[in-house]
Amino acid sequence: MAPRRRPSPAARLRDERLPQTLAHAVAHAPHYRRTLGRAWKQVRGTEDLPRLPFLTKDEAITHQRALLTVGRAAFVGVVSSGTHAREGRLLRVPRTGAEADALEALEAQTYGAAPPLDGWVLEVRNVHHGLIEGARAERLVAPWTYTSQALRLLEELLSRPQGDGRRVKAMVLGAGAVTAFTAWLSSRDVDPARFGLSVIGTNSFRLSPRWKTRVTAAFDALVLDNYSLSEVPTPALECTACGFNHWLLPPVAFEVVDPLDRAPLSRGVGVLVVTTLFPFVQAMPLIRYWTGDLVELGPFCDEARDVGFRFRGRLGQSLVARGHGVLVAAQDVMDVVESSPLTARHPHPMETLGLVPGGECGAGKVELSLTRGRGGLSPRVRVELRFDPRLFPEEAEAFGQALASRLLASAPALRRLERRREGELEVALCAPGTLKEAWVKF
Ligand SMILES: [Zn+2]
Repeated sequence: MAPRRRPSPAARLRDERLPQTLAHAVAHAPHYRRTLGRAWKQVRGTEDLPRLPFLTKDEAITHQRALLTVGRAAFVGVVSSGTHAREGRLLRVPRTGAEADALEALEAQTYGAAPPLDGWVLEVRNVHHGLIEGARAERLVAPWTYTSQALRLLEELLSRPQGDGRRVKAMVLGAGAVTAFTAWLSSRDVDPARFGLSVIGTNSFRLSPRWKTRVTAAFDALVLDNYSLSEVPTPALECTACGFNHWLLPPVAFEVVDPLDRAPLSRGVGVLVVTTLFPFVQAMPLIRYWTGDLVELGPFCDEARDVGFRFRGRLGQSLVARGHGVLVAAQDVMDVVESSPLTARHPHPMETLGLVPGGECGAGKVELSLTRGRGGLSPRVRVELRFDPRLFPEEAEAFGQALASRLLASAPALRRLERRREGELEVALCAPGTLKEAWVKF
C-alpha cells in the first residue's frame, strides 16, 4: 500500500528494496526465474507489484525447493508454517545468518543502542515454529508446549526478578497460549497483576475482544493483539493511535487485493498479499505471497506514518460472493461468539489434557455456508449453544439478534444485499453436540 503522506523509514525501505529483491529472486531461485519472466524489471515500487503473479501457499509448498536461493549449509534455522500441517504439508522457510545480520544492523540504525524497557522481554515461542537465533541480549526465550511445565515455567519467570535483579516487563506469546495461561492462573487464584508486566504482545491468530479485555484486566498490562505469520519474519503491531496493525522490522511490502477479481484495493476488506524483502529475507524470498487472510485497511496513520490493517478472518472460512463482496468475515462471527458464555467451544488442547479448567479457552463452534436459492443468496451462520435453544427460546433469540446486528453493522456488502432484497442473512442456533468437529488452530 503506498502511503499518501510522508512515509515512515520502514515504508520508504519497502519501495527501495523491491527491485533488488526481485533481481535476487530471479537470479537464484528457479521458481521465480520461471514465473516472473521479464515483468519484474518494470517493478519500481509496491504499486507495480500487480504486474507479477501471486504465490499461493499451496504453490509455495509444492515448489519449496525451487524457491530456495542458497544451499542448505547456509541455514541457521527453519520456521514452518503449521496451517497445512494436518495434511502433512509444511512450508519450511529457512533463515540464514546473513538475514539476521541485516536485521540487526537495521534495528541498530532505527532504534539506536538504548533498550526500550528497563527490564527483560520474555518471548514464548511455539516449539513447532522452531527456536531460532537463540536469545538476544535482554531477552529470555521460553518454549511453549502443551504441558503443565510450560505453565509453571512462565509463572516462575514472571513471579521473581532475573539474575541481575530486574524483572520481566514485557511478554510476547501466542493468542492460544495467553488464554490458557490466564485461565490457569485464575483457576489457582493467582493474581497476575502482581507480576508487574507492562506490555503483553500476542502473535499467531487474533485474540477475541472478550479475551483481550480479560487478559488486560487480569495482568493490568497493555495488551497488543499483533498479527504475524510464521513464514514472514515481521510481526505487525497493534497501534495504540489508530487501532490497526503496522508492520515492524524488517520491512515487508504488502498489498490488499479484492478476494474475487484480485485487483488492488486502497480501502475496505480484501486479501493480504505480502512480499518479503532483500537482504532481510534471502534464502526463500516470498513474492506476492497470498496469505489467504482477509484484512481491513485502515486510514493513513499519522503516528506510524503508514497505512495499517486489521485481521478479519481466513478467506476460506468467510462468506464472499461474486458481485457482492465480503458478506460475512469469519473473525466477526468469532468475536461475538467468543464474547458470550452461552456459546459452545471446541476444546483447547490444554483443556483436553486436563491442565486448564474446561470450557472457556477454545474457539467457538460455528459453521458458515453460502447457498443460492429462489430467494437469492443465503449467507448462513450456524452457532452451537451450551443449551438447547428450543428449551430457552428467549435467551437464544436475544443472542441470535445480537449476532445478526453485529454482522450487519460490520459488513456493508451484507447490508446492501438485504437492502436490494437480493438475499438475507440467516442465523441458526443449535443445541450442544450438533455441529461436527472441525480442525481449529491453537
Ligand atoms: Zn496507527
